[in-house]
Amino acid sequence: MTSILLIYTGGTIGMIQDHETGALKPFDFEHLLGEVPELKRFDVQMDVESYDQPVDSSDMEVFHWQRIAWLIAEKYHDYEGFVILHGTDTMAYTASALSFMLKNLSKPVVLTGSQLPIGVLRTDGKENLISAIQLASMQKDDEPVLQEVAIYFGTELFRGNRTTKYSAEDFDAFVSPNIKPLAEAGIHVFFDHFQLCRAIGPFELMPEMENKVAIVRVVPGLRKDVFEAILGVSGLKGVILETYGSGNAPTSSWFLNAIETAVSQGVRFLNVTQCFSGFVEQGKYETSSAFSGMGVIPGGDMTLETAYAKFMHVLHYYPEEVEERMLASFCGEITTYSSIV
Ligand code: ASP
Repeated sequence: MTSILLIYTGGTIGMIQDHETGALKPFDFEHLLGEVPELKRFDVQMDVESYDQPVDSSDMEVFHWQRIAWLIAEKYHDYEGFVILHGTDTMAYTASALSFMLKNLSKPVVLTGSQLPIGVLRTDGKENLISAIQLASMQKDDEPVLQEVAIYFGTELFRGNRTTKYSAEDFDAFVSPNIKPLAEAGIHVFFDHFQLCRAIGPFELMPEMENKVAIVRVVPGLRKDVFEAILGVSGLKGVILETYGSGNAPTSSWFLNAIETAVSQGVRFLNVTQCFSGFVEQGKYETSSAFSGMGVIPGGDMTLETAYAKFMHVLHYYPEEVEERMLASFCGEITTYSSIV
């Protein structure tokens, strides 16, 4: 029998409505099991770890990611798979962070949640939860089919670090814009076996992150004083520039000078596109050609969520090899021909 550890962190899936204010608030995980009696019928041995105080995922901090990573590392050899119940708002950030913190996974870590609380009649929570557990417990030739961090939502299983929340309304709330889903769960479950990640070494916990990082979205009319103030933050280690199209940004000298000054002070820059899909190609247009010569690292087709988590991981663990590491793939988060060993 496959053994699964279910970790409940919070989110809509485990929320109830406050009768007085009407607002949704977290409730005790015991109620969740009461709401989904189907869980008791599973042919898996399932244990549950629940946060004493469930968190809305908007309150998640690096510490919360570390807490999940520590728990999985501690229990790594006791279970064949892990399912994390999590709020949808920052689920893609957590999935991305875990994919770097849990290096060389050879077991599934599946995050899921719901758009409607599980106690509500039309909830999507039950289906998401049941399917996530089933996908995490699937084995082939005595090993888990899935061996990476993934998000299951609305009939699709996505690579966690390729995913983004794109709808606050639809039950299909997540997409992975630049790669196909890892599996589709209809009447049958079809895995795209060619895409699945496999470990290239022993499992390792890498929970630390350098979080003195800012994200600046380039917009028409971006103010010089605002931009310089952000870049002037004391001890700043990295800036992610969310640029236009294939990595384009203003060519004004104040903008480029501000970046150059920060680079000379040791701040690293990463260029990701604001576009929903596609990738950064520095030098394709004149409006991005200055970047490469200044040390701005092109972020390829990484989502903002994964670029942020990976940048913090790399700045902490590989401060001398930031560019090389950011351009390489650790666990399928970027399309590239090289890979980190
Ligand atoms: N605010 C909630 C959260 O992210 C929304 C959800 O769970 O869907 O925790």
